[in-house]
Amino acid sequence: MESAADLADIPLLGASLEELTVWVQRQHQPAYRARQLHQWLYLQGVRQFQDITVFPRAWREEAAVIIGRSDAVVRRATPDGTVKYLLGLADGQVIETVGIPTAGRLTVCVSSQVGCPMACDFCATGKGGFRRNLARHEIVDQVLTVQEDFGRRVSHVVFMGMGEPLLNLDAVLAAVRCLHQDIGISQRAITLSTVGIPGHIRRLAHHHLQVTLAVSLHAPNQPLRQYLIPSGRAYPLEDLLAECREYVEVTGRRVTFEYTVLADVNDRPEHAQELAAHLRGFQSHVNLIPYNPIAEADYRRPAAAQIRRFAHILQEAGIAASIRQTRGLEGDAACGQLRATHLTAG
Ligand code: SAH
Repeated sequence: MESAADLADIPLLGASLEELTVWVQRQHQPAYRARQLHQWLYLQGVRQFQDITVFPRAWREEAAVIIGRSDAVVRRATPDGTVKYLLGLADGQVIETVGIPTAGRLTVCVSSQVGCPMACDFCATGKGGFRRNLARHEIVDQVLTVQEDFGRRVSHVVFMGMGEPLLNLDAVLAAVRCLHQDIGISQRAITLSTVGIPGHIRRLAHHHLQVTLAVSLHAPNQPLRQYLIPSGRAYPLEDLLAECREYVEVTGRRVTFEYTVLADVNDRPEHAQELAAHLRGFQSHVNLIPYNPIAEADYRRPAAAQIRRFAHILQEAGIAASIRQTRGLEGDAACGQLRATHLTAG
């Protein structure tokens, strides 16, 4: 996925055993120290190099090295067990991460950027603007933070927090490598969610990963889609769907289409029929997301029966469709509600 980076100036977290071996040897230490370091980083969750007690004291005290862990600024649990974290980064930026426990699973919803440049009309993150990309260690740290706090292993990771992962593809791919190889999360249990950036789905396909690609569609035609997603103006729906088809061909993996359902905007039977016409014969799955209200927009969530009806029309047309169960609504931790008050204030 990427060649061994030089760890001289970057945090250790996110590094592979191979990279750690090179680094340890440059530090004039025996290679077996790399395996120890790997365990301390990914199993013990060490935060300070000085705390790695199996290392010689002189080395621990002299080495100028950064591990790259964040500080939890706020931890807020909601009644359904979902926990939202605001994590403080080294440069003072704050990001949000959510831990979602369900039977037999622990899912982490990770951020890939501080803020987001995509400005989707119904998403709180987009309303706050874009600050910067996250580095690989800042993505990996989110998963370790949730794992430690819950005291159990993370089984699934979804890139559905703040940011557009395909605009930060190098760091996202480096983090995916680490989550898979170093932390032991199956690639199939990792989902990258994108609003679609021209050419980037194709680029991702050629990495031949087993991750799930989720594409935020939200509308069955171009005029409605570009109204909801301004960035969609430069990326016609037909082109987006063509790139998704290519993804299926190249990877052999089906694509998930996310569709946030907004009352009286995109939730009518005609919309479902139009969507079904686009997806007929396509190896895909539609995930209907009931809209989670945000303060900055006046959309409404449709009645449950209306969403079920929408799903039913798709299913009747032979399209796999499910309705996402909303989690974390009470803590502002649900989809589209991830925006640190720090970001608007700062
Ligand atoms: N930038 C990526 C990840 C964003 S969040 C993407 O666009 O796919 C994951 C999903 O939540 C996206 O499908 C996004 O459109 C959706 N979403 C955003 N705001 C929402 C809201 N208020 N209610 C329901 N879903 C929302």
